Amino acid sequence: MNIIEFRKTSKHFGPLKVLDEIDLTIATGEVVVLIGPSGSGKSTLLRCINGLEQITGGDLVMDGISVRAGKRQLRLIRQEAGMVFQQFNLFPQMTALENVAFGPRQVRGLSRAEARTLALGLLEKVGLAERAHHHPAQLSGGQQQRVAIARALAVQPKVMLFDEPTSALDPELKQEVLTVMRQLAQEGMTMVVVTHEIAFARQVGTRLIFMEHGKISVDGPPREVIDTPPSDRLKDFLQHV
Ligand code: ADP
Ligand code: MG
Repeated sequence: MNIIEFRKTSKHFGPLKVLDEIDLTIATGEVVVLIGPSGSGKSTLLRCINGLEQITGGDLVMDGISVRAGKRQLRLIRQEAGMVFQQFNLFPQMTALENVAFGPRQVRGLSRAEARTLALGLLEKVGLAERAHHHPAQLSGGQQQRVAIARALAVQPKVMLFDEPTSALDPELKQEVLTVMRQLAQEGMTMVVVTHEIAFARQVGTRLIFMEHGKISVDGPPREVIDTPPSDRLKDFLQHV
């Protein structure tokens, strides 16, 4: 079953065309890794999926709902697509537990006790049960990002979107985040991941997409694409990441 469908999707910022008639279908359970030069439209593509950016041409359908539908449908789409950003974006005044429990209470209408139980379970899943009562400032970057993943999972999304989730982390902290992501993939979560971690793409990705100038220029099995890049530009890109 296809969970995400780009149909000649375009996105302009004023005169600037950032996504150029993208056709892309993502099936349930796929782990799609997106790579490409800075400015090629990777973040915009992710942000269009959950309606953080409005598309300006074509259509984009998420779990059967068009992002062009009304506000109510857009809220549903946002619940179904959890997003993790480069800069964690946790609520600084809340503890890890409160950060994770916030969404289920607001969005899913869980009671305080239910949300707390769910949040504790998710913090345990990302290896942070013992940090539940710490505030973000008391956590390392890798721990903050794992809380951010737990927070996104808390609203029970059907798809997880990751925008360079390890780019702000020191090398030794990247791995703990990649491990959680690998575990999610193994559990069958549908994921779209923008990353420069080529080893992760190769091991965990079911599909690798290389973007250039708002278009998909390569789309294929990660090992094949990485080991025998079908274009010189991709070959060059891979040599420099
Ligand atoms: P990537 O994530 O691949 O680096 P982005 O999707 O962030 O690329 O950006 C693609 C292009 O769109 C860039 O030229 C960027 O400057 C431009 N862009 C992104 N967001 C905005 C915005 N809100 N307003 C205007 N231009 C933007
Ligand atoms: Mg980006």
